[in-house]
Amino acid sequence: MKSPLKQRVFLTGVVIALAGVLIALAVLQYRWAREVSDATNVRLQANLDSSILGWREDLYRELTGVFAALQVDPGQSPHQKAAQYAQQYQSWSQTAAHPDLISHLFLFQNAGTEHSQLLQWNAATNQFEPADWPAELDRLHNWMQIRSEEMVKAAGAVMRLRQQDRLRRHSNGSTSPFGGHRLFGPDGFPATVDVNAMTLVRLQIRHTSHSAGNQSKGQSAPAIDWAVVRLDSKVFQEHVLPELVERHFSGSQGLDYQVAVVAGPSSVVYSSDAGFGKQDGAAFDRTIPVYGPPHGPPARRGMAPPSFAPSAHLHGGGTRDNGFAGPLRLDAIHYTDADTDWQLLVRHRLGSLEAVVSGMRRRNLALSFGVLLVLAGGIAIILISSQRARVLAKLQMDFVAAVSHELRTPLAVISSAAENIIDGVVAGKQQLSQYGIEIKNQARHLIKLVEQILLFSATRNKGHHYSLRPLRVSDVIETALKDTAGLIEENRFTVEREVAPNLPPIMGDLPALSHCLQNLITNAVKYGGDARWMRISAKANDASGQYDEVQVSVEDKGLGISAGELRRIFEPFYRSRSVDAGQIHGTGLGLSLARDIAAAMGGRLTVTSEPGKGSCFTLYLRFAEVAELQTAPQAAAAVNPNLSKT
Ligand code: ADP
Repeated sequence: MKSPLKQRVFLTGVVIALAGVLIALAVLQYRWAREVSDATNVRLQANLDSSILGWREDLYRELTGVFAALQVDPGQSPHQKAAQYAQQYQSWSQTAAHPDLISHLFLFQNAGTEHSQLLQWNAATNQFEPADWPAELDRLHNWMQIRSEEMVKAAGAVMRLRQQDRLRRHSNGSTSPFGGHRLFGPDGFPATVDVNAMTLVRLQIRHTSHSAGNQSKGQSAPAIDWAVVRLDSKVFQEHVLPELVERHFSGSQGLDYQVAVVAGPSSVVYSSDAGFGKQDGAAFDRTIPVYGPPHGPPARRGMAPPSFAPSAHLHGGGTRDNGFAGPLRLDAIHYTDADTDWQLLVRHRLGSLEAVVSGMRRRNLALSFGVLLVLAGGIAIILISSQRARVLAKLQMDFVAAVSHELRTPLAVISSAAENIIDGVVAGKQQLSQYGIEIKNQARHLIKLVEQILLFSATRNKGHHYSLRPLRVSDVIETALKDTAGLIEENRFTVEREVAPNLPPIMGDLPALSHCLQNLITNAVKYGGDARWMRISAKANDASGQYDEVQVSVEDKGLGISAGELRRIFEPFYRSRSVDAGQIHGTGLGLSLARDIAAAMGGRLTVTSEPGKGSCFTLYLRFAEVAELQTAPQAAAAVNPNLSKT
């Protein structure tokens, strides 16, 4: 078996090693939590960006779907084209998700020439009919007119160049580099939106080219048509935008983000949450233009705009640089620099993406530190328990040694007395009777010791049943004193008694309470020192002002108990070092048993002590119900002085 010092060193080493492991784990956990939260942040930001791009693409698809449907053969007459547009619009509206998004559909034919004409779709007749320009579209009309005239002019210049080149090459027999080239861009034109008039326009010229046959006939530049679509704001705000937001920003528990489309600081076009988007100076996870390049102009300057694409630099108004690289494009018209862009505002429902990530990090840290704490607590409990088990094992060994010692002395006396009697050493009746008394005393001591151990075991196992009944305090004290009279007398102790008269009965079990008091009296004798004095007093406890319990005190002027040991003397098997060293017999069970008995009677046992001056143990016991007492009036008066006055 290891020596206690070695054991302590080993234990300290284990504690330090475990503490080191726990600290290392905590540091690693902290670092990992930070790395995980950084990675989560990057992932969430990327997801949000892709949601926003998806949202924009779907919005553009929704708004420009009608333009894709309106494709006609450019070689036809205006009348034939109008009929073809009508047919295509009809079949588009039968399959479109939100056909009612379009409130008015116009065709601006032969734009930029003196033959320009506005046709409006008539749903009743299912055809395009001539119409006047609505006043709200004046600016847009003007904008289209300017661009159309420039295109006509540019197309005319190109046509003339081709004509000259053709003639020259015809005379020297070479082929034209312009042959088969489209006059306008290969992919048509991006749709453009006037956000104030809620109107989209797009040039409807596609794949316009001069075949060799056309060139020979000297055909003039093609006519320019615009499709003009007026949107229904109500359908746009109440159906299209909410559906798109739902599609791109919702998670398993509804919308993950708050989303708003704003036309300016105080003009909210759509908001997923009441009030969101209105706050001035509020921080958002993303603020992205709804139309044009996602990160605002200028973007991707290196990309050439399609030929004849409307430019911001044209005549004081135009769309912003359209470097947006998505498959679909939708630019907003800015008539003046004061025109503001529509913005998409996005913020995570929990405050911001940063807040979400740091919240997750805090949760992860709390969880892992919680686990570490539980681990540390578990280790601490194991260490404390093992320490306690060691102490308990030592106490039990001491107890076994103490009991053996307690048994050996009386047994030795009994045995030698018996031998003397057998050997005939004892002469005369008187000496024989003295031997008899000694044997009886030692036997009683043994019986008490055994009873004490049995009672302790029964109380601990909750196997002991007390029969409670009203008892006089003086009877309890008398019984205890009678049972310890031999001991008191043998040790020549003076006992002072101060029992208040007319104390009401208490509720208790006489043998048990007497045993409890005997233990206190025995201790006062054992540890009472040279003063050989003790006082037993009983009075109603008036400290609480209730007068509902009696306090029975056993006082001595002996060794006293140090403050450090006061906490432990009620523990089973515990004996203070000084009494152990002073060879004072005992088992360490007396006080533990006395406290258990007091508790079983609904009372308590306390101690005050000063080393070298003495100790005072006080037993508090509740009075029996006044109604149960025969001497109720006197008793109540004795307990509560106020009662006697009434
Ligand atoms: P035991 O007396 O058999 O050792 P107890 O449980 O009665 O066991 O007492 C526990 C310890 O409390 C004693 O060993 C002693 O150190 C201390 N103690 C009890 N009563 C007194 C007292 N009246 N004066 C001083 N020490 C006391």
